[in-house]
Amino acid sequence: MVNSMKKNQNIFYEHQGLIDTHAHLGMLKKRGIPAEERISQIFEAGFRGIIDIGTEADDLGRRMDAFARFEKVRFSAGIWPSAQSIAGREQGIALLETYIAAAPRNRLIAIGECGLDRRHNRPGSAADLGGERELLELQLGLAKKLHLPVIIHSREAGEETREILSHYPDVRGLIHCFSYGIPEARGFLNLGYYLSFSGILTYKNTQGLREALAFTPQDRMFLETDSPYLAPLPFRGKPAHPGMVAETYKAAGELLKIDQEDLKDHIAGNVAALFGITF
Ligand SMILES: [Zn+2]
Repeated sequence: MVNSMKKNQNIFYEHQGLIDTHAHLGMLKKRGIPAEERISQIFEAGFRGIIDIGTEADDLGRRMDAFARFEKVRFSAGIWPSAQSIAGREQGIALLETYIAAAPRNRLIAIGECGLDRRHNRPGSAADLGGERELLELQLGLAKKLHLPVIIHSREAGEETREILSHYPDVRGLIHCFSYGIPEARGFLNLGYYLSFSGILTYKNTQGLREALAFTPQDRMFLETDSPYLAPLPFRGKPAHPGMVAETYKAAGELLKIDQEDLKDHIAGNVAALFGITF
C-alpha cells in the first residue's frame, strides 16, 4: 500500500505540466502499449497535453474515434512521404482535405507530418523525388489556405527543406524531431520556424544536437517523443509512450541550466504561440 502510494506520487511529480508535441497514439497498441490506459494514467498524473500526429491521408477519422475522448489530445493531419503516398499524392490531398473539413477546428490544430525523407527516399529508390517535393508543397499550400501551422518531417534533406519552406512565408510551423546541427537550426529559425527536440537528445554521440538545442532560443523550442519510436534513455530500444517525454525534459533542463518549472512554462507558452491553444 505504502509502496504503491509512493509510486503514484512519483508518477504525479514526473508528469505534472508536461506536453508531448509529437506522438502517434494509434501506433502504440501494435507495439504492445495499452494506449488508452497509459494515456489515462499520465493525464491523471497531471500531464498537460499531447498532439497526436497524422501520417496518412485517411487516418484522422480513426485517430479521432480512438482518442478524441481525451480532451487534452489535439490532432494534426498530414501525409508522410512514402513511395506509395507520393505516387498517389493528388488523390491523397483531396482525401486529406475532406477529413480535415469534417474535423472540429478546436481539435484539429495543424497540417502534418509532411516533408522530405532522403534516408528512405534516395535517388534510385522506388520514390519519385520530384513527387516527394510536390507532396510537401501541396500540404504547405493547404496549410496556407486553412491558416494552420505545419509539422515538418526532414531527414537528410535540411537545405532542400529550408529552401521549399522559404517559398511559403505565410506558413508557420515546427521542424519535428530536429536532427541537424547549428547551421540548419539557424536556417529554420530565420524562417520563423520552431524546432522540436526528441529523446535523441538523451543518446550518447549526439553532441551536435545538444549544441543545436543550446543555440535555439527558449521561445522557439518544443520537446516531443515521436512515440512509439525513439524512446529516450533509459528506455532506448523499447516502444515509447508520451509519458517518457519526462526524460527529454530532464535532459533539456540540465543542458539549458533551467529548472523544470520554467522549462514547462516556456514549452506551454510556445504551444500557445504557434498553435493558438492552451491545454
Ligand atoms: Zn512522427
